[in-house]
Amino acid sequence: MAARHDLATDPRLQEDLLQARRGTAYFARKLNELTDAELDGGTRLPDWTRRHVVAHVGYNARAIARLVEWAATGVETPMYSSTEARKQEIEFGATLSPIALRNLFDHSAVHLSVEWRDLPDANWSNEIRTAQGRTVPASETVWMRSREVWIHAVDLDNGATFNDIPASVLERLLRDITGAWKTRGTDVGLQIKVTGTDLVFGDNTTTNPTIITGPLPSVVEWVTGRGSAGVSPTIPSENGGIPAAPKWI
Ligand code: ZN
Repeated sequence: MAARHDLATDPRLQEDLLQARRGTAYFARKLNELTDAELDGGTRLPDWTRRHVVAHVGYNARAIARLVEWAATGVETPMYSSTEARKQEIEFGATLSPIALRNLFDHSAVHLSVEWRDLPDANWSNEIRTAQGRTVPASETVWMRSREVWIHAVDLDNGATFNDIPASVLERLLRDITGAWKTRGTDVGLQIKVTGTDLVFGDNTTTNPTIITGPLPSVVEWVTGRGSAGVSPTIPSENGGIPAAPKWI
């Protein structure tokens, strides 16, 4: 019989599940505030309409649910069959009727939540592989989903801001993204400082690096490539503006 509550017992994982579900509820709220006609509008992402964002977030839940099923059964089920298939799926999803698009989001979110709920405690450490080819424990799927729903709620561009994202999620995003830059060596000469905290990330070997400073939500907005409102550089770039953040994904 299916459980009525999460089988996971690790308190940290339970906290992560709470943040992922809160983020999903937040995305749902911003989506539900939009009329059907407004779904055709633009987003914080240059090439995507709101339809693309909703389709992507829906298919992302299905893809992550496949990873949780993999952890449950041991049968390898990748997120997507290929990068091209993932892209085509989003393009197709963006053409769905508003009601179908809303159903895609709702049903995929419920399905994923149930997969998480019913994953036995012991299976959360089973290894799965992400679309980027990283081998991680199943517990990582919760964070993978969390960052998607919180950031894409802002991308819908109907009032959500990085200030609405919980500080713990923002800080983890900052660690993730600056960690990815470090791995790729794209953070040379660049440091990130969060005002009012002792959080410093980026290149600590170069003398006189450009230091991007701001409150946590603004800094995360900048590192995710969503704009530079609220951050300031110690060394202005040549045109006097704020440099673009290195690519993240
Ligand atoms: Zn995404």
